[in-house]
Amino acid sequence: MQTSFTPQQLTDPDAAASEAILRKCVHCGFCTATCPTYLLLGDELDSPRGRIYLIKEMLENDRPADAKTVKHIDRCLSCLSCMTTCPSGVHYMHLVDHARTHIEKTYTRPATERWLRSLLAFVLPRPSLFRLALFGARFARPFAGLMPGRLQGLVRMAPASIPSPSVTDRPQVFEARAPRRRRVALMTGCAQKALAPAINEATVRLLTRLGCDVVVAKGAGCCGALTHHMGKSDTSDASAAANIRAWMAEANGDGLDHIVINTSGCGTTVKDYGFMFREDAALAADAATVSRLAVDVTELLDKLAPEPVIKVPPLKLAYHSACSMQHGQKIARLPMDLMKRLGFDVHPVPEGHICCGSAGTYNLLQPELATRLQARKVANIESLGPDVIAAGNLGCMIQIGQATAIPLVHTVELADWATGGPKPAALEGIGVMKRQPADYIIETAA
Ligand code: SF4
Ligand code: SF4
Repeated sequence: MQTSFTPQQLTDPDAAASEAILRKCVHCGFCTATCPTYLLLGDELDSPRGRIYLIKEMLENDRPADAKTVKHIDRCLSCLSCMTTCPSGVHYMHLVDHARTHIEKTYTRPATERWLRSLLAFVLPRPSLFRLALFGARFARPFAGLMPGRLQGLVRMAPASIPSPSVTDRPQVFEARAPRRRRVALMTGCAQKALAPAINEATVRLLTRLGCDVVVAKGAGCCGALTHHMGKSDTSDASAAANIRAWMAEANGDGLDHIVINTSGCGTTVKDYGFMFREDAALAADAATVSRLAVDVTELLDKLAPEPVIKVPPLKLAYHSACSMQHGQKIARLPMDLMKRLGFDVHPVPEGHICCGSAGTYNLLQPELATRLQARKVANIESLGPDVIAAGNLGCMIQIGQATAIPLVHTVELADWATGGPKPAALEGIGVMKRQPADYIIETAA
């Protein structure tokens, strides 16, 4: 694609990066076939190619975002299905991230929209505050139907019972319970701590059992993805910088072989820290190191090659591959191969490349489109007739779980179970638990 940025504009590194991306697009339109919003709406401006034109026009003319551009960029899920499809290697993620930052800086949204976005950006990354908000939401649940659409989504997100804080929330080292093979940092995240601490607990049990010292680094927290995708780059950069400092203190201290992430949405962002901080003289090298060390938990499990120690019941498992897993990190078959090796009967979800509508805060900000995608995803899953649904991203688990009665578990919970951990709570009533609760205690050390 021809561009006409001025030499002056190209002195801005973000403009230069976007210009290089735009020049790679050859307008072929292959990406439209796999874009969820184009599939639903059939509008060229809700396709990757249409959005690329809108972004080009906005950035090239150095003008504030207008309502039309904002509408179509806001409808983008950042699912990155277009990046998987594109034969020309167009890095749509970096382009739309730049556009969102530009929109946030130059466009004034209606007051209610600004309020909702600020609320989400403030509450979701803070686990204690988010837990309090979930308690409040639980009491408001019976009245959800009376609330405006987007507040309903927030209230319905609250689980029936709010989990207690977990031992894995605190900075510490969980020592290997087998001959030591790796020292890894676990990213315990933000919203996941409040909504599903069992995922971090299963990860710690599993990795320590497989010979890893697991560090929860002091000062590490939210990866910044939630605010990054809202264009709030100052906030997301601050979260990312805190993580980089926390993990590098460990890497430069007792050393780290990997930074393990069990929420693929966060993994995509942490793996991009190197790009996000490329112009930051103080943090560029450390950010690149953190991105290099970052692995999804299934990538590490592939290296550790766990063996099953129980024969799991013959459950039919539907594996939902999160967009951030398959498109963002290009991890496609690996989690399914791992589940098969551990004895599960795994089936990929039909039309698996299409987003479930979760997409960070998308289901809260764009509930109508998100609900249509949710229904489409659940219909595809239920067409398999599975006993269980497995996924590697909490956002998808919540989105899908709101629309089906089939139990949902995280991949690490299944791997933990098959290698000697407790049966995931969501599967109570399915199969037989063979071990005693005392076998599952997490051992902590200083
Ligand atoms: S990121 Fe997803 S929703 Fe956005 S343009 Fe690409 S395919 Fe479409
Ligand atoms: S597939 Fe790639 S090159 Fe073709 S229109 Fe889409 S982004 Fe551009």
